[in-house]
Amino acid sequence: MTKTSPALYVVPTPIGNLDDITQRAIDVLRSVDWIAAEDTRHSMPLLKRIGATARTFPLHSHNEEGATSRLVDCLSRGESVALVSDAGTPAVSDPGSLLVARARQAGFRVIPLPGPCAAVTAFSASGLGCTRFLFYGFLPPRAKAREDVLRSLLECPYTLIFYEAPHRVLETVDAMAAIFGPGRGLVLARELTKLFETIHSCPLGDASAWLCGDENRLRGEFVLLLSGWTRTANASESGRVLRLLLDEGLSVKQAAKLASAITGEGKKTLYERALAFRESENFS
Ligand code: SAM
Repeated sequence: MTKTSPALYVVPTPIGNLDDITQRAIDVLRSVDWIAAEDTRHSMPLLKRIGATARTFPLHSHNEEGATSRLVDCLSRGESVALVSDAGTPAVSDPGSLLVARARQAGFRVIPLPGPCAAVTAFSASGLGCTRFLFYGFLPPRAKAREDVLRSLLECPYTLIFYEAPHRVLETVDAMAAIFGPGRGLVLARELTKLFETIHSCPLGDASAWLCGDENRLRGEFVLLLSGWTRTANASESGRVLRLLLDEGLSVKQAAKLASAITGEGKKTLYERALAFRESENFS
């Protein structure tokens, strides 16, 4: 390949299976002047494998501001830069969006290459409809902030896509079940493109038991996909009773208590769902 023109190339790399790098990504990485990498040591085996010998420059969340200025200087000198992250598409729940923004502001071409992305890979195999999704990425780690976000998404009609770390996946699916109700559809996509790839669909209420059913299921990398809100998704008996009580003007606490007495469902779960209903009314 001839030398690339001075531009910022956004280059996706494999999320597991090393054969998933595209020929164009290989050509660009072999011919640029600089490779900005989230972790240069992590990227080195891949770069060696494809014969890319450009100078590398670390660009991660702790040095993003300074590294971005230096890389924009490289572009200003007419040098080409490829941006890679540890896995998948850079700037998608990964460092790089500041560099992309600054390069564009400064008038340089930003050339994105298509390639691996865990969210899109998981969505394509989820069976959860093919048109609309909302990519959220990582939820906040703290319970209260995470619940606030989940509540704000309760009545989103699109498939919801989350990234999650293995040590938090159990508490996250439990929090989801408490807020979205046990009947909402979930797809757990773990270890995509790797040896132990697993794509499991179940109602949210069964997710915790499935994860605990085999210790290997709690290992690896996860994408969680939730089916979007539909009128029928909320038409469970408890959801209907809650709605009625809230519409009658009862407080969240009173509605949850009464709905629990009427339906036998747990007070805490119903309180969460009542809060979520109220919050989604404020958003609509
Ligand atoms: N930029 C990447 C992309 O395009 O997918 C995402 C980077 S983010 C820091 C890492 C998260 O992506 C993981 O915690 C996991 O949620 C998800 N992920 C990455 N690789 C995965 C895989 N092979 N299988 C399932 N999820 C994966």
